[in-house]
Amino acid sequence: MKILLANPRGFCAGVNMAIQCVEEALKIVGSPLYVYHEIVHNRHVVQRFVTQGVVFVDSIDEVPPNQTVIFSAHGVSPTVRQAAKDRGCTMIDATCPLVTKVHMEAIRYARQGYKILLVGHSGHDEVVGTFGEAPDMITIVESPEDVDKLRFTDKDPLVYLTQTTLSMDDANVIIEAIKRRYPHVKAPPSDDICYATTNRQLAVRHLAHRADLVLVVGSKNSSNSVRLTEISENVGTRAYLVDDRSEIDHRWFQGVHTVLVTAGASAPEHLVQEIIADLLERYGGDVETGHIVEENMHFELPVSLRILREQHAVKA
Ligand code: SF4
Repeated sequence: MKILLANPRGFCAGVNMAIQCVEEALKIVGSPLYVYHEIVHNRHVVQRFVTQGVVFVDSIDEVPPNQTVIFSAHGVSPTVRQAAKDRGCTMIDATCPLVTKVHMEAIRYARQGYKILLVGHSGHDEVVGTFGEAPDMITIVESPEDVDKLRFTDKDPLVYLTQTTLSMDDANVIIEAIKRRYPHVKAPPSDDICYATTNRQLAVRHLAHRADLVLVVGSKNSSNSVRLTEISENVGTRAYLVDDRSEIDHRWFQGVHTVLVTAGASAPEHLVQEIIADLLERYGGDVETGHIVEENMHFELPVSLRILREQHAVKA
């Protein structure tokens, strides 16, 4: 069986930075270390940190006063920041800079009096965080049907923003519906769907037609991973989202000559390699890399972490 390995796949710069934040903070303050929401949406990453003494919380009330708390890669609303501040917490912000960019756009447009249509999944951590920047000015739009329900007029200043991890195709359908209904709507200065989401989707779109089956390594709550399975299905190739090799059902491989393997932006590479080793052992064959885009993005660790490191170095 041929294994076609999508490139790029797996960790993006934002996920790398967020994971490094937790690793560094553990070295500096030790455990327990509190992280607000899953640092990235991956079960294996979260479980590894839990065994190292990280406590993941869904409410700042769960963080004891004066402790260090890390905000996840998906970002948080100002209400969460304020709650952490009120408890005297030291805050480390591991929000991906590309998510922060969308927050900044929301703040800026809200201040200018724009009504903001936020295209994204209601309830996703990132959307909750962005919405919280200007709740009176933001309306979440999840589908073209939602656009029909909007009650703005052509006199209302309108702008749309998008969640960073949407399917480009799905987002475009919604954005086109918004533009049809409100031709005067303003677009953001640059695309909000991030480079990593775009590139992983492009790779699947270009490669899935060569495969009989697509395996996407990632967790069920990882938006960008779920989108990769949908894109593959749209191309006409069956796709399954698996957290690791234990979730593979080998009945899927009946009649399969080529399998495309990719991974969402929060899935560790060792899980991909374990799956490949397992497939080669069972079915034989070879591995071909489908190289679509070169990535060299890197994000610096947040200033708050560097300050924490310096403060502890002085105390030591
Ligand atoms: S998927 Fe995109 S927005 Fe999300 S962490 Fe990675 S680079 Fe940042």
